[in-house]
Amino acid sequence: MFKGQKSIKDGIENFLCPFTDMYISQGSNGAYSHKGILAHDVRGHVSGVRYPYFAPCTCKCIRTYPVTGQVMWQSTNKVRFANGRIDYATFMTAHDDTMDAKVGMIVPQGNQLGNMGRKGYSNVTGIHCHIQISQSADTSWYKNSYGNYKFNNEYEPEDCYFVDNTNIIYACNITNWKKTDKISVDENMEKEVVDQILHVGSKVKFDGIFKVDSIRLPLSTNHFGNTQLTGVIPDDYKNGRCRDYHWIPLDDWTEVDQYGNSQEQDQIVYSGVSYVLNKNIYTVIGIDIPTDSAKLRINGHDVWVFCTYLYEV
Ligand SMILES: [Zn+2]
Repeated sequence: MFKGQKSIKDGIENFLCPFTDMYISQGSNGAYSHKGILAHDVRGHVSGVRYPYFAPCTCKCIRTYPVTGQVMWQSTNKVRFANGRIDYATFMTAHDDTMDAKVGMIVPQGNQLGNMGRKGYSNVTGIHCHIQISQSADTSWYKNSYGNYKFNNEYEPEDCYFVDNTNIIYACNITNWKKTDKISVDENMEKEVVDQILHVGSKVKFDGIFKVDSIRLPLSTNHFGNTQLTGVIPDDYKNGRCRDYHWIPLDDWTEVDQYGNSQEQDQIVYSGVSYVLNKNIYTVIGIDIPTDSAKLRINGHDVWVFCTYLYEV
């Protein structure tokens, strides 16, 4: 893409390649820092130059990691990817020495997102932008068994971005790049609009990694209370719907470490210690406006959850 480029079809932004010139210096599943992850290191036409890159879609800064010039971005709406999927984009850019992103900042499609750089771990590999993309709203970011960080729902960059107006200089033998004129359109998906306003019938997922506050005894009942999820300590459940927030069936949750990594976890959950996440999709069966909560049916139990801990999919 070039600076200022926008690409939108039937109200949905096409996710564009953020680079004007693209020389891929390390592809996915590379020998060292990309082992087990789908990510590209991209430099520009001339090595050693801090070329700018641009917002592939209108996106919001979710997290920053200043030490590595790294930013997690998420599209403000669902976007269309090069493989035809329509979903949220959550992506990481890294090594920007001039990184000035702030959490909450929104960058319109086509505006400058950052500059290639060498901050963090790229000192030996030269100036580039590391980019890694998840086709989902899931912001989990965790180490794999090789010690490299990854998203859930990661896709190859060539399955994510359209290369309209990107000059591909060197592409590590990747040939299946697509431009927006090759979009195969699913008319039904095009009409889908997810507004994050929950109604009975909305499909939702839990958003993030949660810390278990307390376990209901005996453990065989398989329920846990969860401070991070509810935002209050269990003794504070006093009135109305909140009583019912207290115990959430454990069945659909996976024990992870605080970064969302499920490896080496024994799946035996302890209060005040364990972290869990849940990737399932639930249907909202009730809404309570005064407490801004949604009722979900989880393993045969009706559970009220504050809407702020859910996202619509
Ligand atoms: Zn990299």
